[in-house]
Amino acid sequence: MNGYFHDLYRGSKSLLSGMLVTLKAIFQPTVTVQYPREKIEVTPNIRGHLTMVLDPETHTHRCIVCNRCAKECPSSCIDLSGVKEEGVKGRVLSRYVYNYTSCSLCGNCVDVCPTKAIEFSCEYELASFSKEDFIFDLLKEVKKSQ
Ligand code: SF4
Ligand code: SF4
Repeated sequence: MNGYFHDLYRGSKSLLSGMLVTLKAIFQPTVTVQYPREKIEVTPNIRGHLTMVLDPETHTHRCIVCNRCAKECPSSCIDLSGVKEEGVKGRVLSRYVYNYTSCSLCGNCVDVCPTKAIEFSCEYELASFSKEDFIFDLLKEVKKSQ
């Protein structure tokens, strides 16, 4: 009989503790966001896919085709090349393709870039049935946004 009352006491105590937590939560501000109708502001430190930085002065990318990002990438996600142009010192970027499907977002490429030409985007709304949609031609994106 003693055991019965002991269990009853423990059960009621646990039930009340649970209800107390619920009661407290009722009066706290709502944290649920009705995505996609509502969106929260994401932290600027978010690591989305790689993107090229548009220089505010020149309105173009800052890549000097040094190839460091591609060399440092542990997953071979970056494929870039440059061409010689008359009157231009060094090479001019002609291709910069980034494979997001194998990127681990380690940040090596961003860290080694001497001109801060690439960064992580804040884009998180990406969905597709095709893997090809996650292979980005960053140079094309730059040209589109110019
Ligand atoms: S974040 Fe890491 S894995 Fe992704 S492209 Fe850069 S170096 Fe490669
Ligand atoms: S490290 Fe920077 S400057 Fe060098 S190739 Fe990569 S993006 Fe261009």
